[in-house]
Amino acid sequence: MQSIDISVIQKHLFLGSEKSIQNIQKLKELEIKRVLSVEKYHEKLEEFKNHQDILHMIIEINDMETENLLSHIESALNFIENGLKKNENVLVHCQAGTSRSPAIVVGYFMKTYNLEFKDANEIVASVRPSVQINQGFISQLELFYKMGFNFNGNSIWHKEYRMKNYLNLHKEKESINTNQLENDEKQKSQEINEKSIEKTEIQIDPKEYVHFRCKLCRQILFTEDNLVEHETGYNAKNFNEKKKSETKMFCSSYFIEPMDWIKNTSQINGKISCLKCGTKIGSFNWSGSQCSCGVWVSPSFRIPKTKVDRIDPKNQLIK
Ligand SMILES: [Zn+2]
Ligand SMILES: [Zn+2]
Repeated sequence: MQSIDISVIQKHLFLGSEKSIQNIQKLKELEIKRVLSVEKYHEKLEEFKNHQDILHMIIEINDMETENLLSHIESALNFIENGLKKNENVLVHCQAGTSRSPAIVVGYFMKTYNLEFKDANEIVASVRPSVQINQGFISQLELFYKMGFNFNGNSIWHKEYRMKNYLNLHKEKESINTNQLENDEKQKSQEINEKSIEKTEIQIDPKEYVHFRCKLCRQILFTEDNLVEHETGYNAKNFNEKKKSETKMFCSSYFIEPMDWIKNTSQINGKISCLKCGTKIGSFNWSGSQCSCGVWVSPSFRIPKTKVDRIDPKNQLIK
């Protein structure tokens, strides 16, 4: 009989490697009702799919630091929670059971018991010592905690999350552009990419927010909530000491989140034009750029303060 490699993390919740789903008899003995596979699709999963009495979900990610774990975590945790609610036994597994599937289970512990990554990881690793979650997943789970386990806020952490999503999207688009894909295939993958964009557009109610509008046509472009702040002069060591003492630290530009109305963001850099009148109001660079205060901002969506008016909720210009 094949060894099975399943760890019991808590009552009803199991964690394992590829081996864990290859012994159906054992899964039945353990009364596993749900299996969450966290790996790229392959033949063994196809075989497993035929076992009708086990509910099966697949999250297709690689064990790579750059892989976007957080974009799958809500559906993964729902799948687990829905099983546990009914006292069903749930198995989460990946290839080795050391990084991808533990990342999901640790995410479950964090959210359920409001734990920071290290505490939740300790619980899981104490039961399964081979657990070694990759650094990229760790920082995403830490971000998950900082966002209060929801994706719809406007804290700096939510902005960081959305920035990262855009950055990933940009990288994906770039790799699609460089690959010589057939046209229709290219279009298809771009459509998928468009769908995976987190909407950052905020319904702008000018009576509620300090907002910014085009100096020429008065089109509202973004609000205070879309600003990406940085600590002035934090990186000022980039400037030499003499210059630093002579120059007053001043940010001459606003930096904003990537907004849906900005065109050509699949390029590495470009200009930002007003969505209504088309006047150039700024520039973007996914690699980043240096603010006048010395801080490096990356990615950088920069709007010089001279290009927009800052308006308070009472429709008064803020000087
Ligand atoms: Zn600055
Ligand atoms: Zn305009």
